[in-house]
Amino acid sequence: MTHVSLQSDCASCAALCCMAFAFDQSDDFAFDKAAETACSHLDSCGQCRIHGDLDDQGFRGCRVYECDGAGQRVTQDLFGGRSWQDDPSLIKPMSRAFATVRRLHGLLVLLEAARKLPLSVVDERTRTALMVSIHKSVEDLPSDQRLDAMHSEVHAFLRSLRSYTLSD
Ligand code: SF4
Repeated sequence: MTHVSLQSDCASCAALCCMAFAFDQSDDFAFDKAAETACSHLDSCGQCRIHGDLDDQGFRGCRVYECDGAGQRVTQDLFGGRSWQDDPSLIKPMSRAFATVRRLHGLLVLLEAARKLPLSVVDERTRTALMVSIHKSVEDLPSDQRLDAMHSEVHAFLRSLRSYTLSD
């Protein structure tokens, strides 16, 4: 399996987080935005016009948001570098894929963090198998029901690791 980054690479993404998700006016966002709708601060090249001034403009939520590498994985691996900005018919499929892969990458981040624990051979084997299974499922884009099941499986495994400490 080629290396997959679990950190955002905005230069390789089609600004999915600025389009796919909704946000509500709050301390983190200066106005409401509907899901699957481009933010009005996004320019036609996929760049945020206020990127250098997010906090002062009331968009702290954008500054702290981390997609765990889901954005570039969807854009490059699943959609071959295409963008919904060039082809609006991609708005829905890219949004759905982004929401799904965002959840899967969130699980991968947790499993990657568990790698720092002094795991037994059996637990390390389970951790690795879960990561391989999640990576594979990115291409299949599992249903919400399947995602919930994977979420439960990963969290049950992580709970089973509570007896480990980093100094073990
Ligand atoms: S304010 Fe900028 S970073 Fe935040 S959603 Fe809009 S375009 Fe994206």
